Amino acid sequence: MGMVWRTFPPLRLAGTSSLRAISSSSLDAFPKQVKIVEVGPRDGLQNEKHILPTQMKIKLIDMLSAAGLPVIEATSFVSPKWVPQMADHAEVLQGIEKFPGISYPVLTPNLRGFQAAVAAGAKEVAIFGAASELFSKKNINCSIEESYQRFEEVLTEARCANIPVRGYVSCVLGCPYEGKVSPAKVAEVAKKLYSMGCFEISLGDTIGVGTPLGMKNMLSAVMKEMPVSALAVHCHDTYGQALANILMALQMGVSVVDSSVAGLGGCPYSPGASGNVATEDLLYMLNGLGIDTVSIFPRVVTVPKPPDNALVSVESPSTFLHKINGKKCLFICFEPSPSIL
Ligand SMILES: [Zn+2]
Repeated sequence: MGMVWRTFPPLRLAGTSSLRAISSSSLDAFPKQVKIVEVGPRDGLQNEKHILPTQMKIKLIDMLSAAGLPVIEATSFVSPKWVPQMADHAEVLQGIEKFPGISYPVLTPNLRGFQAAVAAGAKEVAIFGAASELFSKKNINCSIEESYQRFEEVLTEARCANIPVRGYVSCVLGCPYEGKVSPAKVAEVAKKLYSMGCFEISLGDTIGVGTPLGMKNMLSAVMKEMPVSALAVHCHDTYGQALANILMALQMGVSVVDSSVAGLGGCPYSPGASGNVATEDLLYMLNGLGIDTVSIFPRVVTVPKPPDNALVSVESPSTFLHKINGKKCLFICFEPSPSIL
């Protein structure tokens, strides 16, 4: 899809050059292209109370692939004791169709998870740490310092196997246990993961408590320590701030954004966290801003009819999702098309 820059009419209200300056400098700062990392099958589904049948998860991922998303986080190789929904991780990873050009990273909390993931065919993995000490203890059962040790083991093996590793930092704009999280701490953890070899750092507002100003302050601190090209944002929508926070991040040069189809999600260790920003809402905003999205396909792809043995009869990913969890999803179109907007 070609990039279209909209020309905005001059501001009519008061001849305030300062307003005009802010407006145009903000627009200039938007990245030309944004890569969407779809996290619905992992971050979204892991919070669903009912365990979904493996075939349904595979079908969902296949449909997301058919829609042309460049990165689809497929599952998590955590212990089924902690996240029962992800117990079928190997079957899911092996069962999905691997579309050429699409990455299917999986979460690996430790070396054991990493080895199981590689044995199941993983070509890219993600590790997850936190900017909050208490969240780290509750979520991954160790201190931030101890988590580096685990990550080092994974990163060392990953390097030998030539497997790229993405790093998540949770709670970058607030923690359910500690409350405020300092931008300096986020910057420290992000820098550490980056220097250890993660190719990309996803900064997560895990419980969705951030506002654009918080995002700006946090990103300013992180961008002093590492290149913005290696940063992604991951926003939950608890207070309806996800798109606003993402917009701020885009204005600061971030060009990778995590999202979840139909806004699925939450966090099993974050009481009150609502879903991720919805992929279709993010696409709508990016399209409105004239920002190109990295897509595998040059046009809208018709999702194929499900096989006869599918558990539900579906026509699009959104109706599929509607049937599996009842959450809202107006429409989904992975290559924004002017005719439907
Ligand atoms: Zn999340």
